[in-house]
Amino acid sequence: MRIGVLAIQGDFAEHIAMLKRLGVDTAEVRLPAHLDGLDGLILPGGESTTIGKLSVDFGLLEPLREFGKSHALWGTCAGAIFLSKDARRSQPLLGIMDITVERNAFGRQVDSFEADLEIAALNQASQPPASYHAVFIRAPIIESVLGEAEVLCTLPDGRIVAAQQGKLLATSFHPELTRDTRFHEYFLSLAN
Ligand code: GLN
Repeated sequence: MRIGVLAIQGDFAEHIAMLKRLGVDTAEVRLPAHLDGLDGLILPGGESTTIGKLSVDFGLLEPLREFGKSHALWGTCAGAIFLSKDARRSQPLLGIMDITVERNAFGRQVDSFEADLEIAALNQASQPPASYHAVFIRAPIIESVLGEAEVLCTLPDGRIVAAQQGKLLATSFHPELTRDTRFHEYFLSLAN
């Protein structure tokens, strides 16, 4: 299995390190040709406006949309915004996942936080079940989950922070910044 990480801005190195810990072949994706032969792709956290604009400059927008039609694609934080249909602002989006998001929904950088979440999809794979420690950094919320997309996880107050649509995955938080490999393993199960 070979998994790519979009490596034009953001914390792609942390995703690559996590994938290597799981013994997976990795590739840094900066150009359309780098998608060849990949089984899945991660869109990292960072700044979604920058990731969008650079994707336009590097001719990646259409190739990424095409790739997502038949492959596993996972966006963390800014990556989740980039996957969404609508971020309520004018910025380049892939628009392939049936979710709408609100950027910076918890406030500014200083309002970043961590929370223990119950994520049933992860517990199915791991025995015994354990809560998931999630890191939110100037994170978006997933405002609505439409069509074929489903809610994977909410905060205790009901706000949606993870969703799935077939092989497409979106998380408001950053599994690559923890020692817990369960979310990456879950993504690998979709890519397989
Ligand atoms: N606030 C960023 C954005 O709107 C996302 C932050 C992150 O990826 N940690 O794109």
